[in-house]
Amino acid sequence: MDYSEAKHRIEELKAVLRENSRKYYVENAPTMSDYEYDSLMHELEALEAQFPELATEDSPARRVGSDLESGFRKYPHKYPMLSLGNTYSIDEVEEFAERVTKSLDRPFTYSVELKYDGTAICLTYRNGILFRALTRGDGVKGDDVTANARRIANIPHALKGTGWPEEFEIRGEILMPYESFDRLNHERELAEEPLFANPRNAASGSLKLQNPEEVGRRGLFCVLYHIPVGQVDFPTHDAALNAAAGWGLPVGDKRLVCSSIEEIEAFIGKWDTERKTLPYATDGIVIKVNELDYQAELGYTAKSPRWAVAYKYKAEQACTPVLSIDYQVGRTGAVTPVANLEPVFLSGTMVKRATLVNEDQMRALDLHEGDWVYVEKGGEIIPKITGVEESKREMGAKVPVFPTLCPDCGTPLVRVEGEAKWFCPNRKGCPTQIKGRLEHFVTRKAMNILCGEATIEQLYSLGLAKVPSDLYRLREMDLVRLEGWKEKSASRFVSSVKDSLAVPFERVLFAIGIRFVGETTARDIARHFGSMDAVMAASREELLEVPEVGDVIADSIIAFFEDPDNILEINSLKEAGLKMSAQVKEASSNALEGKTIVISGTFSISRDEMKALIEANGGKNGSSVSSKTTYLLAGEKPGPEKVKKAQDLGVEIIDEGAFMAMLPEGVVSPESVATLGRVRGRGPQQAQSAGAWEGSRSDDSGDTTPSGSVQGNLFEPTLF
Ligand code: NAD
Repeated sequence: MDYSEAKHRIEELKAVLRENSRKYYVENAPTMSDYEYDSLMHELEALEAQFPELATEDSPARRVGSDLESGFRKYPHKYPMLSLGNTYSIDEVEEFAERVTKSLDRPFTYSVELKYDGTAICLTYRNGILFRALTRGDGVKGDDVTANARRIANIPHALKGTGWPEEFEIRGEILMPYESFDRLNHERELAEEPLFANPRNAASGSLKLQNPEEVGRRGLFCVLYHIPVGQVDFPTHDAALNAAAGWGLPVGDKRLVCSSIEEIEAFIGKWDTERKTLPYATDGIVIKVNELDYQAELGYTAKSPRWAVAYKYKAEQACTPVLSIDYQVGRTGAVTPVANLEPVFLSGTMVKRATLVNEDQMRALDLHEGDWVYVEKGGEIIPKITGVEESKREMGAKVPVFPTLCPDCGTPLVRVEGEAKWFCPNRKGCPTQIKGRLEHFVTRKAMNILCGEATIEQLYSLGLAKVPSDLYRLREMDLVRLEGWKEKSASRFVSSVKDSLAVPFERVLFAIGIRFVGETTARDIARHFGSMDAVMAASREELLEVPEVGDVIADSIIAFFEDPDNILEINSLKEAGLKMSAQVKEASSNALEGKTIVISGTFSISRDEMKALIEANGGKNGSSVSSKTTYLLAGEKPGPEKVKKAQDLGVEIIDEGAFMAMLPEGVVSPESVATLGRVRGRGPQQAQSAGAWEGSRSDDSGDTTPSGSVQGNLFEPTLF
């Protein structure tokens, strides 16, 4: 390759790697396999080594992928948090061992350990108490996720024993076990929210939630594996980790001190099989020089330590025949082809089904009936059919015909231009869609009504529930007459329906099942508009003002409210007593007397409610920033001009947490704004956050109750 070809290819590789790095670290939704990504990275590294004049400082080959996101305070790492050199080849592990042996030129040992496939975390303990938790970020600074880390059950808030340094950092991984992952994805599937591709993405997405309680429910756990050199006084990495385990820290125990390459290879071989039985994901083995002095001597490249390397296992594949294909109709009418497979064991679970995604994907695979297919689950835990073994195809095997009629109600399917899926347009008459909407309505994340799929099936087939508002008309005396119901179950059901009347508006908005309006989007919309009436009256432009709402979501909301049946149903739900607005309690104080406040951006309550809150507490709302303004109250995405003006005029900029801290207790009802109760009452700390609004969202709960269990699962997880 000549210079100009190399230059072109390097630019191409950098662009592809940057784009995929963002999808992986920030969106938690990779579209490329790790193997492909690593191959491209190795190509870039090789080209940059061959043409050093083309290697730039900002090259992805020299930087760790960044997970930094707005919405979190950033703090610098005391020691840079780097990546690891990685390889998929045993030969390269041997080369690493030779390099290190030559460099050190004296006896040493290795610590070989499992490579946990989650998201990196750095915990700081000060005087034995968990002080801060940071993500890896860009390696130099990380996002502050302390409030979330406090909700991870096995991260101790206080150390036990003695001998820990006054302040030290310890690093590890946050993981989501397969079981929690399956449950989470099942819930997301029912809610038609995008699924997480694998537990790693789910763990990293969960750690970045702005809601610590929800983090606590996600079943995350932590494994620690590194104390940066210079903080503890031990001869080896192994001894330091053993001491940390003695202080009550969850240190990884799948490690071994070795002194030869043969022992390392035996460990790699052993765990290649045994890791499949672990309840969480691992993607390789990390081989580290064990002596801390030698680690310091070998040092670091810009991106990784010279004293360690990761051997990565390739994605697991299995070849198995397709027994049949189901065409599943979802609650929005989308039809998904799903292959039923001869069961096969893969990465810790038995795989019986795999999605074929859509008709185009089936064509691209050239799938025939009865074909043996390759199923892969490596990076992506939702099994994917990656290919077909043509040599095993039976003579005369037919190409499956994608149905033209809805498999449930027989209505001709339609495929709208630009959509990859076929749809059943019979929204109002297709039983699967009707039941699907009811199932969605009752989920824990929506109205949290104790009612499983079987109950929905029964109520629907008896004509007792077709739309969600029907559930509010059911009485105990009607239910006890039905097969399988007893007084106790009927009373539990009715009281759970009644309890759902207290569910806040943002979840009601999610529960009514507007296409593309997932849990987070519903919350953003509810907070922006404050009431169902305001959402219904909003124009397309107004909807687009909400962060995260783009054309597709705005159009879907408008289409939903244009349907008179939906309006009728909303009215029935209103009559049943569901919350149709975010509520701010009647409150008054003179806490803000004499203060003129200009608000900008989106808050956890609607802007109108925020203004009302200011007035109710004696403050004055200003429409534009001037020298008379006391505070610019900046929510999410504040107007840049207002911010600049405030900065120019020296007007103090405060965030929502700081504002709430100025109000007396009891001003805002807890259900309307889950986060506010936590930020209030922190007094002096809040004063510090005033002015530090940028990138901060008052997520530090100060509540140290650990909770790591996943609650109230109504559904059996299904494995795809
Ligand atoms: P990595 O995951 O390959 O390895 C480094 C990380 O391993 C460390 O930062 C640490 O968090 C973790 N780790 C787990 N167990 C460990 C142990 N026992 N000791 C030390 N560290 C341990 O590197 P990375 O920088 O986090 O991510 C880069 C990798 O991510 C790439 O190699 C690629 O596979 C993947 N990636 C994929 C895509 C994609 O589109 N598929 C995009 C970007 C990155």
